[in-house]
Amino acid sequence: MRCTVVGAGVSGLSCAVKLLEAGHEVVVISDRFSPDTVSDIAAAIWYPFLTAPADRADGWGIATYAELERLSEREPQSGVRMRDGREYLRQAVDPPEWSEDIAAFRILDDSEIPEGYVFGWQFRAPVIEMQLYMPWLRSRVEALGGSFVQSFVGDLSEVSGEVVVNCVGLGARELCGDEEVRPARGQVIFIDQDPGIGHFDQQPETLTYTIPRSDVTVLGGTAQVDDWGMDIRAEDNDLILSKVEALWPELDRSRIIGGAVGLRPSRSEVRLEVEYIDERKVVHNYGHGGAGVTLSWGVR
Ligand SMILES: Cc1cc2nc3c(=O)[nH]c(=O)nc-3n(C[C@H](O)[C@H](O)[C@H](O)COP(=O)(O)OP(=O)(O)OC[C@H]3O[C@@H](n4cnc5c(N)ncnc54)[C@H](O)[C@@H]3O)c2cc1C
Repeated sequence: MRCTVVGAGVSGLSCAVKLLEAGHEVVVISDRFSPDTVSDIAAAIWYPFLTAPADRADGWGIATYAELERLSEREPQSGVRMRDGREYLRQAVDPPEWSEDIAAFRILDDSEIPEGYVFGWQFRAPVIEMQLYMPWLRSRVEALGGSFVQSFVGDLSEVSGEVVVNCVGLGARELCGDEEVRPARGQVIFIDQDPGIGHFDQQPETLTYTIPRSDVTVLGGTAQVDDWGMDIRAEDNDLILSKVEALWPELDRSRIIGGAVGLRPSRSEVRLEVEYIDERKVVHNYGHGGAGVTLSWGVR
């Protein structure tokens, strides 16, 4: 079958790989490519953050975890590495549904929990180094025979192909008139210092993370809904650093080397839905919020 994927973020490229592996012809059309997509800014750790519906997202996430773990073992050039991290909470809760399906999950001892928190767990999860992973995904599409066209799509009915897969993220506001997709602005800091282990507070109101990559550690975060600002803001950096220092007091501000901003495509829930436009099948796949990488191989 001739398939056209619209969008070249992590969702579009992962879909393209899957379709090519299933034997279809694939063209990816997009107005922007790596390194200029939201996906390039993702921190990125496997974690179902800011995404819904929870029951389906957990299944998509677990399927993606398995594939990313496989890539970390078999394709190290993909930039996927398994890393240990600790999540801290301000109240005791039941372990998340996904805890049974992932490696090395354990509840923390009281002595391992920083001040201000009362509970937490340690787990092993894929860290996806997007500066390596996005070019790797593209090369995978090319190696399987897929092709790329740079173009803005203003109307899905004008895209060729027997099946169209719509992976435009925040672009669905304009392309589909879907105002449910809203930006959740994320600002990050890059620091040349390794915390050894990741530290996380994954509650949207207090969101804090340290994600060690092989080149830098990514510090975050913010999740400012309906905020379209793309400039790096000093006050957000101050907020991020004060939150991170509460979890990682050894942080050395003199080793900060940069930062970035991206707009997560947040939505009440992922739109994974088939629509027929002029009798042609269009599969919508967008609105992955803060978990587009986490869900990328599992959404189906
Ligand atoms: C600071 C930050 C940290 C994050 N951390 C994580 C994390 O740790 N783990 C995680 O899983 N996720 C994380 N995310 C979320 C993740 O980045 C997103 O969920 C994911 O990138 C969405 O991917 P996508 O392919 O759907 O969208 P995008 O990456 O936005 O790609 C959309 C593509 O569609 C194209 N497009 C749009 N409109 C059109 C059009 N009309 N015509 C043609 N092309 C079009 C764009 O050019 C682009 O290529 C983070 C995000 C941010 C900002």
